Amino acid sequence: MISKRIRTLAPYKTETTGARVRLSSNELSLKLPEEVKRLIGEAASKIPFNRYPDPEARELKEAIAYRFGVNPENIVLGNGSDELIYYLSIAVGEYEKGVFYPVPTFSMYGISAQVLGREKIEVSLNDEFDIDLQKSLELIRDKKPVLAYFAYPNNPTGNCFNEDKMRTIRDEGVFTVVDEAYYHYSGKTFLKEALEREDTVVLRTLSKIGMAGLRVGILIGKEEVVREINKIRLPFNITYPSQVIAVLMLRDFYHIIEEAIQRMLSERQRVYEEMLKLEGIRVYPSEANFIFFKSLYFSGDELYRRLLQKGVLVRNFSYMVANCLRVSIGEREENDAFLQALHEVLTTY
Ligand code: PMP
Repeated sequence: MISKRIRTLAPYKTETTGARVRLSSNELSLKLPEEVKRLIGEAASKIPFNRYPDPEARELKEAIAYRFGVNPENIVLGNGSDELIYYLSIAVGEYEKGVFYPVPTFSMYGISAQVLGREKIEVSLNDEFDIDLQKSLELIRDKKPVLAYFAYPNNPTGNCFNEDKMRTIRDEGVFTVVDEAYYHYSGKTFLKEALEREDTVVLRTLSKIGMAGLRVGILIGKEEVVREINKIRLPFNITYPSQVIAVLMLRDFYHIIEEAIQRMLSERQRVYEEMLKLEGIRVYPSEANFIFFKSLYFSGDELYRRLLQKGVLVRNFSYMVANCLRVSIGEREENDAFLQALHEVLTTY
């Protein structure tokens, strides 16, 4: 009875393997002082969780709007940006029209399209992991998609696409979603265009700035667009604890997040430079909180397994890009453990 669309769907891949050092999900580690943990506990203990939470999550929207420099009216919140990707795939254009995105990229764009029975219109990135504009335009003129997703920076490759190419694609009449999940590590944004244009929205998330467990995704767009997307949002999609804890973090302890982001940026530079010194891998520059690299001596699967044997979990993307893996940047000690394991594996071949 389950539809063919769903039976042929590959489930979303997450790493559940246990490992001493887990650098596979692009989280940001936050070191919370005991006093902050106590205050969070105190706030959580006051939640009347027999009641439904605020369906509009007004306080949280205000805290996010303040931190991101927009108005609450420009925001839709989702249970992670994953949920917002579903909403966009539901809301933009008729289902006969396909969904366009360059690959390799974040898998939810394709999953959400397939669930809804929409055609997945994928174009391979070029050798620099940038958009192949000519091929994209040919495909778009042929297939006439109405919705495009761009991860900016892209996951898993870590680079930002050329902005003019994205705009040229949009000019073909394609509603453009700029997924800025890693904005805090690139500093590049389409926010201004999202606030001015009805064919552009930006996605952000609290997941990559230390709050992945709270599941708060953020869609930013013109009020007219936001109002429509909000109609299909599931009521109460942001849980009470998430609303309370996220407000507290954004309002009172944002400096802890900012410090963690700065730490990550300097660690990214350090890990990148250390990786460049190693023989047996090719390392790609990153504007996100992870680094993409290619195994040159072993298959990607083999390198992944050998790192795991040494207690280090990274994400294996060999099924998407031959012999490529992605390592998230963690705390200094975790990064050192990764670098040490990688060095050992590459030198004992
Ligand atoms: N977009 C991109 C590009 C991502 O890499 C991720 C997480 N891996 C998401 C969206 C989903 O984030 P969230 O936790 O907000 O659902």
